[in-house]
Amino acid sequence: MSAAPLPATPATLAFDAQAQQNAFVQCVMGLQRTLRTTPLGWALVAWICWGRTPPAALLTWLGLAAAGWAASMLVLARLQRAGPDVQHHGRWLLGVAIADGAWWGAVMPLLSGADTALNAILAAVLCGAMAVNAPAYVPHIHVFHALCAAMWLVALLSLPGHPAPGMTDIVMGLGVFLGLLCYVMRGIARRVVEGLRLQLANAALTAQLSEALAAASQQAATDGLTGLPNRRSLDQLLDTQLALAQREGRPFSVLMLDLDHFKAVNDTHGHAVGDAVLRGFAQRIQTQLRRSDVCARYGGEEFCVVLPGTAAALALDAGERLRRAVAAAPLSADIRVTVSVGVATWQAGDDAAALLARADDALYTAKRTGRDRVVAAPPG
Ligand code: GH3
Ligand code: MG
Ligand code: MG
Repeated sequence: MSAAPLPATPATLAFDAQAQQNAFVQCVMGLQRTLRTTPLGWALVAWICWGRTPPAALLTWLGLAAAGWAASMLVLARLQRAGPDVQHHGRWLLGVAIADGAWWGAVMPLLSGADTALNAILAAVLCGAMAVNAPAYVPHIHVFHALCAAMWLVALLSLPGHPAPGMTDIVMGLGVFLGLLCYVMRGIARRVVEGLRLQLANAALTAQLSEALAAASQQAATDGLTGLPNRRSLDQLLDTQLALAQREGRPFSVLMLDLDHFKAVNDTHGHAVGDAVLRGFAQRIQTQLRRSDVCARYGGEEFCVVLPGTAAALALDAGERLRRAVAAAPLSADIRVTVSVGVATWQAGDDAAALLARADDALYTAKRTGRDRVVAAPPG
């Protein structure tokens, strides 16, 4: 059963063009492989004709075949170097096929004689040679048709005035075989090229899918408004830091930040302006952090900064630096806000919930004692 053809869209037309190019490359490589075995065919012809045809005719054919073969090998090597440019190099491949067909076909006018059995064997050798060649041409089948046509036309030259009885039948039989071979190979070729197209379409779909997956996992880890890591990412980061702290005793701290009187910003300027302030806040914080520090949106107008490898005193400094940076200049248009910060440093026995709860308590104290300030959680 053949695969259903892909509908003609710009994408599938691109696959068509790409499939044609791939088919061309495969054809060139297949022909190079097949031509390497061709001297075996010469040996077979020489063996069959030895003592039955005039040596001069055999040498002429062998010379012709060797010259055509060498020229074909040179052209194919050039095509392989040139790459998959079917537009510009397709006619060279056609030339190789026609030359190939012509020197094989020359077996009949040059080597056939009065011996009908010999003539039939030579025709059978030609049929075999074409059957051996056919698979190499499958990806670019019209070139194979040219090969068969060239061979048969040259074989026809043996007919006028041929001395042997039955020569017309032999050459016509050769033609029928070539016609059948072309017909069968056409169907196979269609399926091969369709397979190449499907391969390309699958590769493109796989690439799209992995892009979509990457985008989806990026989205799943990111807060849509601020572009900061979201709560889920924060949880993962905290797990990693906790594991490091527990295994290596490496300190780390968290800062819990909450914008002061943010509800008033929304109430006064509207929700859209509030959103812009949240975005401005996220950007401002990020300019103040080290590369290894991470600021995540905890929820609403609350943010959590994780400071890996940072002990209590430095964490307090970092909180103060952030607080000052926020208060120093408007976050969006002319809207100034302040932020309250609670600081907690990991202690042996802390899990993520305990650490965040202590940072939250410190934040609550900062709010209670006037806002726009940084409070460190007391060691528990
Ligand atoms: P406090 O100083 O005590 O923290 O006061 P507050 O007004 O900041 O705190 P409150 O909890 O009363 O209000 C938080 C406000 O943050 C209310 C809510 O509408 C707003 N908010 C939360 N998420 C968003 C958001 O994504 N966009 C906007 N524009 N506002 C948000
Ligand atoms: Mg709040
Ligand atoms: Mg608030």
